Amino acid sequence: FTVIKDYDPEIYAAMEKELNRQENNLELIASENLVTKQVIEVMGSHLTNKYAEGYPGKRYYGGCEHVDVIETIAKERIEKLFGAEHSNVQPHSGVQANMAVYFALLETGDTVMGMNLAHGGHLSHGSPVSMSGKYYNFIPYGIKEDTELLDYEELERLAKEHKPKMIVAGASAYPREIDFERIGKIAKEVGALYMVDMAHIAGLVAAGVHQSPVPYADIVTTTTHKTLRGPRGGAILCKAEYAKAIDKAVFPGSQGGPLMHVIAAKAVALKEALTDDFVVYQKQVALNAKALSEKLMEKGFKLLSNGTDNHLMLVDLRNFGLTGKHAEKILDEVNITVNKNAIPFDPESPFITSGIRIGTPAVTARGMKEAEMAVIGEAIYDCLIKNDGQAAKDKVKSLCEKFPVYAE
Ligand code: PLP
Repeated sequence: FTVIKDYDPEIYAAMEKELNRQENNLELIASENLVTKQVIEVMGSHLTNKYAEGYPGKRYYGGCEHVDVIETIAKERIEKLFGAEHSNVQPHSGVQANMAVYFALLETGDTVMGMNLAHGGHLSHGSPVSMSGKYYNFIPYGIKEDTELLDYEELERLAKEHKPKMIVAGASAYPREIDFERIGKIAKEVGALYMVDMAHIAGLVAAGVHQSPVPYADIVTTTTHKTLRGPRGGAILCKAEYAKAIDKAVFPGSQGGPLMHVIAAKAVALKEALTDDFVVYQKQVALNAKALSEKLMEKGFKLLSNGTDNHLMLVDLRNFGLTGKHAEKILDEVNITVNKNAIPFDPESPFITSGIRIGTPAVTARGMKEAEMAVIGEAIYDCLIKNDGQAAKDKVKSLCEKFPVYAE
C-alpha cells in the first residue's frame, strides 16, 4: 500500500493492523477464507469506476464493452465449474442472491420451508428478524435431537402437511453432508420449487468433495467468499427456464449497478477454482476438518454429530462448563479466531451460546495439513481447558511464522 499510506494514515494504520492480525492469527471462522493476491489486485482496481446496469450486450450505460467481456467470462466459468444451465454473477452478497430468488419466484405470504437457524440454517432462510421471515411464511425444519443429523423424515412430513411453494436447503453451521437429491425428491413429490443455498460448501461442491445440488435443484445460490475462496459476493445458478425471472429479480428487481471490480475478481477466483490445485486444496480442507475434529474429540470436546464431513465442526462446550462467548474471547487472546455459535436446542441465549463453530478453509489456504491441525487442537485445549494461554500462544506463533499468508 504505497499511495494510501501518505494520503490517509488513519485508514492505512488500521489496514496494516488488520493485515498483521491476518498474518499472526489462526483464522478458524468457517465462513472466512484468504484470497490470492491476484484476486485482491483485481478487486482493488479501476473497474470500480464503471456503471453497468443491465447485462452483457444489454446495458443501460455506454462504454460497457470491456466489462461485458469480464462478466461474460465470469458467467462462463461458473457455469462450467458447476455444470449449470444459467448463472447470474451480479448479487452483491449471499443474502442478496437469496432475496432475489424469493422475489423472482414467490409472492409475499407464500409458504416456504427452510432449515431452522437454531439448528444451523441461515438468517435469510426464514428467520423472523430477516426480510425472508417477514415477507414469507417460513416453516422451519431441523435436526434430530438424538442423532444430531438432518431429520429428512420430519422434513418430508412437514412438506406434506404445509405444501410449501418452495423448499430451501443449505446451512451455515451443519457439519455433515446434506443429501440434496433426497430433499429434491421431497420437493418434487409435494410440487414445490427447490432452492439450495450452497454458500458454505460451494468450494467443496466445485471440487467434487460434497454432493452437488446443481442436478437436483431448480435454483442454487452461493456466496463466492467462503470455501470457494473468491471476493465477497454472491451468485445464482439455475435451470434455463428460470433464467429470465432470476435476472429480472436481480436487476432491476433488487439491485442497481453491478460491482464490476468484484465480478472481475469472481472471474479470477473461478479460474483458480477450475484448476487441479483447487481440487487438492478442497480435499485438504475436508481432511483438515476431520483431523482437527478427531484431535478435539480425543481431548474430550463434544462435537455435534461426533464429527464432520465438510469444512466445519460445532463444538458443544457444556461438558467443560464453558459458554461460546467466553471461549471465543479467550481464544481471541491467544490469536485463535472462532465464532461463538448456538448449538441445536441451546439453553443459552444467542449472545452467549453453548458452542463455537470452527472451520478449516483459511488455515488450509495457508498450506497447513493434518499435522498442523493436531497442533491447533492442542492449542485450543491448552487455552480453554488447561488455562495455559502461553503454551497456546507459542503454538499459534510458530504455525503462523511457518505458514505466512501474503508475506513472501
Ligand atoms: N447463505 C448462507 C448459507 C450463509 O452461511 C451466509 C453467510 O454466512 C449467507 C448466505 C450470507 O452471505 P452474505 O453475508 O454474503 O450476505
